[in-house]
Amino acid sequence: MTALLQTLQGQPVATRVLERALSDGHVHHAYLFDGQPGVGKELAAFGLAQSLVCEKPLAPFACGECSPCKRAVPRGEKRIPIHPDIVVLERGLYEPAQIGRKSPETQEISVDQVRTLVLARAAFRAHEGRAKVFIVRGAEELSTSAANALLKTLEEPMQGTFFVLLSAQPDALLATIRSRTQRVRFGLLSDELLETLLSERGVAATDRALVIATSKGSMENALASLKQDAPGYESFVNCALEAVSETSFVRSLDVAEEMKRLNREGAIEALLAVARQFATLAKEQVDTPASELWARRFQLVEQAIAALHGNGSPQLVGESLLSRLRRT
Ligand SMILES: [Zn+2]
Repeated sequence: MTALLQTLQGQPVATRVLERALSDGHVHHAYLFDGQPGVGKELAAFGLAQSLVCEKPLAPFACGECSPCKRAVPRGEKRIPIHPDIVVLERGLYEPAQIGRKSPETQEISVDQVRTLVLARAAFRAHEGRAKVFIVRGAEELSTSAANALLKTLEEPMQGTFFVLLSAQPDALLATIRSRTQRVRFGLLSDELLETLLSERGVAATDRALVIATSKGSMENALASLKQDAPGYESFVNCALEAVSETSFVRSLDVAEEMKRLNREGAIEALLAVARQFATLAKEQVDTPASELWARRFQLVEQAIAALHGNGSPQLVGESLLSRLRRT
């Protein structure tokens, strides 16, 4: 089995920083991995954790074969390793009762999660004696009290305790948290790398080009837009096509109604399906005025997807998109 860190691709800066730290034995106790979703931050975090808990590391890499190495690999839908010294924090990852709460965490990573998962263990040595690694997904969602609760541990962690904060919006973190971490930037993936990664997953060449066009350098976006290849958004896409082509308002209302029904994630997937369709039409009619029209519509859909990622409500984003599409 290959070490996780060896499978990180397209991030030369992060690779260099982590490999050097592991080779020199100077791993910082708190990193902030800064970059868009789906570019390898999480793989790098688990890779670093694996190197730290490995029984027979071949610096800078983990051996990939020992029991801790195997248990460091994230599994299941929640992508959590079964190694007890590698702990993942994320909003809503745990049942309220598991972290001593009554209500689910809807907005923030609560101080309860930090107390239960971090502070309760911070004073103890690692279960297996090597290292304790806390990985915080979407670290910008730490509530102020959660961030403050982390501060002291971040400042003077016990020997062998490490933190990796993952964030696409590092500036939303408390300055006091940021200043205690070493920032490592993760760039967007190149189209060539996405092409390779998708072909490794068996995605057909015809699909790859379209997926890459809408994925903005993120494997997560690429996979999401593949997922909606599955039936389900077909009627939504057809409806959207009719809505932009038709003079009557009826179809637009159908689309708006559907957007209202979807949650944010569903709305993003549905719009990715529409974006793909518009991109196809633009390509099919290349060098005609129609192609430009579809390309403009494609851009509008992309902007709407960005608005949803930025927390826009599906209903409002849908309404504004439709009125703009009808004006193109
Ligand atoms: Zn190992």
